[in-house]
Amino acid sequence: MYVTDAIVLSRFDFGEADRILTLITPEIGKLKAIAKGIRRPTSRVGGSLEPFAELRIQLARGRTFDVVTQVVVGHAWLRLRDSLESAATAWYMAELADRSLEERHPAEPLYALLHRAYELLDAEMAPGRVARWYEMRLADELGVRPEVDRCVECDRMLEAGESYRWVPPLGGVLCQRCPGPPAARAGISADALKLLKAYQRMDAEGLAELRLPEAVEREVEASMREFLRYSLERDPRSLAFLDEVRAPRVVPAAT
Ligand SMILES: [Zn+2]
Repeated sequence: MYVTDAIVLSRFDFGEADRILTLITPEIGKLKAIAKGIRRPTSRVGGSLEPFAELRIQLARGRTFDVVTQVVVGHAWLRLRDSLESAATAWYMAELADRSLEERHPAEPLYALLHRAYELLDAEMAPGRVARWYEMRLADELGVRPEVDRCVECDRMLEAGESYRWVPPLGGVLCQRCPGPPAARAGISADALKLLKAYQRMDAEGLAELRLPEAVEREVEASMREFLRYSLERDPRSLAFLDEVRAPRVVPAAT
């Protein structure tokens, strides 16, 4: 038996009444656990084993999965659930953490990062800002901090007034003098580059205060998405859901 703080990253139903959970914990890192009988109305732990909360969980070591024996809710970030967009953003950030971690490797920094991100969402910081803040720090933790100050090819300090390209496979921004790979034609605006720098340098409170044109935020979102796709190798599944929640798209009628 052992006791740990944990946040539920994902879960799926298993068998008649069980559920398998992927948890992030500070000391053990990511681990899978089984909650037996949790879907029965009589389950004692059923209501507590929810995502978007910091839990204190007692587990018994098992052969395949450790078994949840007791749960106490530490922090329930209840306001985070009020908006579908902030809940979808919370899932997205949990999935990024899940994909960034190997099982059973200590994960204190990532645990603290997700914890803080959920606090910020719960404090009603704009979900998009929280997501970018989180992505930038996650990239740092994974050792893939995007380069936004110097050209990734010639290492020259970028100057105001030149044109830049965003090249995630090379790790950041490319100056106008360097050819880069053949596919590197996507430009990035000076304002978007400035905002990427802000995400690296400013704390969450400062970022929450910024007043920005929607188009610049969208450009930075697309840039970070593309960057993380290269760093984590594919798109998170939760992104499709987040997009759906945020901007219902008109599906063209079949012809
Ligand atoms: Zn260059």
